[in-house]
Amino acid sequence: MKFKTKTIHSGRVVDSNTGSIVPPIHQTATYVLDEIGKTKGFDYSRSTNPSRQYLEKTLSDLENGKHAVCYSSGLSAVDACFKLLSGGDHIVSTDDVYGGVSRMLDQILSRFDISVTYVDTTNADLVTEAIKSNTKMLWIETPTNPLLKVTDLSKMSEIAKSKNLILGVDSTFATPYYLKPLDLGADIVVHSTTKYLSGHNSIIGGVCVVNDDEIHKKLKFLQKSIGAVPSPFDCWLTQIGIKTLAVRMDKHSENAIQVAKFLESHPKVDRVIYPGLESHPQYHIAKEQMSGFSGMISITLKSDFESTVRMMNSFKLFSLAESLGAVESMVTHPASMTHPDVPKEVREARGLTDGLVRLSIGIEDVDDIIEDLKQALDKV
Ligand code: PLP
Repeated sequence: MKFKTKTIHSGRVVDSNTGSIVPPIHQTATYVLDEIGKTKGFDYSRSTNPSRQYLEKTLSDLENGKHAVCYSSGLSAVDACFKLLSGGDHIVSTDDVYGGVSRMLDQILSRFDISVTYVDTTNADLVTEAIKSNTKMLWIETPTNPLLKVTDLSKMSEIAKSKNLILGVDSTFATPYYLKPLDLGADIVVHSTTKYLSGHNSIIGGVCVVNDDEIHKKLKFLQKSIGAVPSPFDCWLTQIGIKTLAVRMDKHSENAIQVAKFLESHPKVDRVIYPGLESHPQYHIAKEQMSGFSGMISITLKSDFESTVRMMNSFKLFSLAESLGAVESMVTHPASMTHPDVPKEVREARGLTDGLVRLSIGIEDVDDIIEDLKQALDKV
């Protein structure tokens, strides 16, 4: 089955009682046993639920994976990956990870003696140098939030295999439509399904997709034992969202490249970061390993921080909001909104300056998107 067909048909079961083409939402906490020790495959919704099972089947199919395990947020999916490790273990991670991930590593996992070294994973030599005798996991985000750095996953897979590390990839920005980390050698691919996969700013959710039966068993155990599970309604909404993933992504990308080119030619814009622009430092890797460039753009302006704030406060169509990957265009200030827990000096050293603005390009008419950017930039 081709990808676009999978988004609509994977895992779909027509309800046998009614013939309902849209599966019912199994909004139940528990299930009645036939007799002691005999269930119909479900016992308690923290362990499993038909709405979640359907979503997990779809997500594993979309990633060309064998198993998917859904969680109540992207962060709880990331947390489950890190909980595959034990005290004393070490992680090598992409430096420009989502701020919530570095907050978890720096302020929570560190208390359980799990340590991390952040490196620019676009440079494979730095990754190799950072590996220690107790390193157990290589954590890659690609493209990164918010600097949109692209890491060569085949290279990372070679390193991970040679050092016996688990390779985890947060592919939230790329989506399975544009990137298949498992095909490139990743052990786990993670998504915040809050973003493009559900696509409508209506749920918070996450997923881990794997091929390995042992890792799957452990992630399932963590899902049930920690209990960060998505509600049946959220699973159902995500499933409905996925049906239009491919057409939405086509439109996000089509709009984003036009917006990126407009911004690149604007006299008030200093830098435009978009993996689909030839000026992007990893353009060639992005082009090789992704089949599209998605809808995220980051920019800096030539003027001072106050002017940048004025621009962000002047949008009419763009919503000034955290999150990304939904149908509506959104603008975010990473330094204060998504990455405030990363110390300022660390942020600045990585290029995440106070002046950086992140745009999530929606699927509105691109003329209206560009018009809104033009009028906001006029305020600068
Ligand atoms: N990973 C990335 C790349 C993200 O951008 C985010 C959130 O913005 C997360 C993980 C966390 O996902 P959630 O907000 O669903 O917990």
